[in-house]
Amino acid sequence: MNRPQWTRERTYIGGAWVETRGDICEVEDPATEKVIGRVRQATQADATQAVDAARAAAPAWGSTTPAYRIAALRALSTALRERGDLLVDTLVGEVGTPVSLARSSHLGQALTVLDSYAELLETFAFEDYLANTRVLRESAGVVAAITPWNYPLYQLIAKVAPALAAGCPVVVKPAELTPLSAFIVADAAEAIGLPPGVFNLVPGPGGEVGEVLATHPGVDVVSFTGSTRVGRRVAALAADTVKRVCLELGGKSASLMLPGADVERAVSATVANVMVNSGQTCAAWTRLLVPRSELDQSLAVAEAAASRQVVGDPRHEATELGPVISAAQRRSVLNYIEQAVAEGATLVEGGTERPRGLTVGHYVRPTVLTGVSPQSRIAQEEVFGPVLVVLPYEDVGDAVDLANATPYGLAGSVWGPDDERAFSVARRLRTGRVDVNGAAWNPSAPFGGYKQSGNGRELGSWGIEEFLETKAVQMPYAASGSR
Ligand code: NAD
Repeated sequence: MNRPQWTRERTYIGGAWVETRGDICEVEDPATEKVIGRVRQATQADATQAVDAARAAAPAWGSTTPAYRIAALRALSTALRERGDLLVDTLVGEVGTPVSLARSSHLGQALTVLDSYAELLETFAFEDYLANTRVLRESAGVVAAITPWNYPLYQLIAKVAPALAAGCPVVVKPAELTPLSAFIVADAAEAIGLPPGVFNLVPGPGGEVGEVLATHPGVDVVSFTGSTRVGRRVAALAADTVKRVCLELGGKSASLMLPGADVERAVSATVANVMVNSGQTCAAWTRLLVPRSELDQSLAVAEAAASRQVVGDPRHEATELGPVISAAQRRSVLNYIEQAVAEGATLVEGGTERPRGLTVGHYVRPTVLTGVSPQSRIAQEEVFGPVLVVLPYEDVGDAVDLANATPYGLAGSVWGPDDERAFSVARRLRTGRVDVNGAAWNPSAPFGGYKQSGNGRELGSWGIEEFLETKAVQMPYAASGSR
């Protein structure tokens, strides 16, 4: 069903719904291949207008009290909760993600992160003392938030919440494929009466609208989540005005199973992790590293786990695996599988045929491959589809080398017979986040990449630091409470 909220002729700039002059962008439902929404895109002139509006709002918003901003964040959270069903519907429609995941992860985790910033502000120290110096943490100014399509709401909130908490107005540019949920956030921002210019939305092409944000001297911080290729371009464009650039980029994370780990648990959890959101998760554990002596058992478990995945209509509660985002993405994923097989890979499960009974929609079968070289494309590059490669290793040193042997370093996991042994291996991984033995997600722990997975850290106090400047005020006396 198409919703009235999925047809948008105007966008939200400077606290008003303004006419934009860009082309119409059609939003396709990846499961039905039908157009469900139409959005009039912003132009470069609209992006400039949005930056100007944010600039004008910056002095006042930057000098609000933390208590004022806590109230704003809590109000935004309430307004998004009131729109919860619509948001879930919208995320299922524009991403093709299963409804249960849209509810728990796309929306649920976004709200958790939003609430975590209201809570953090209760105690965050915007002023510190160091001998005769008062160290002030001040709003860094205008933030441009450029986001991808895979978790459009979550990625947006992971930037907007800490930026607003830090006292920064934001200009949000969502991905072209998934702009609809961002409009609902703009509706919520309007409903709670955020001051004009504090939240601005410019849906539009990355190469045009995104580049205005990356180059505009009125933008102080660009917070970018997306591919490493585009991240590089954004950083290069931003260099001219020496703006701060926080990059959250791609990944090719390893799930490292140590000798003596619970094979059934480690392998099943890894398969489930890869399949979440049809494999379109930056932090997905797309390489499973297992001791060579346990390869056969691991493959048997992986095959069973992948074949158990419930693939189909994302609107069914029981569905675990929906389609990938677009025909182009499906083609790209199938190309990876075809090339790996042509190079001699063994297909343990899945492959390039459509899942049974699904003749429409951008579906890819849950796929497990082995017998691939660690240097092959499928073992090195981000496939961004429901595809796992299983690589055997000889000893733990070899496993650590393999885990570290890609240009990426975003996430990973270690499975071991005991937590401390797994932790000692986690220390050796060049990656920003490691889960030991299936540990739970912590919304306040830092998230971000080593190497070409980026240079930023989102979530918790690390997330707010991205949007703060540090000022040292030297006083003629040692301030009280100084250290
Ligand atoms: P993408 O790089 O193609 O696009 C991301 C955003 O950048 C979009 O809004 C796009 O319009 C914009 N953009 C494109 N060209 C631009 C330009 N020249 N200047 C400015 N902006 C431009 O990425 P995508 O395909 O939307 O998303 C998938 C990628 O995002 C994957 O690589 C995934 O790993 C990564 N990702 C990373 C994280 C993380 O936290 N590290 C989280 C989610 C996704």
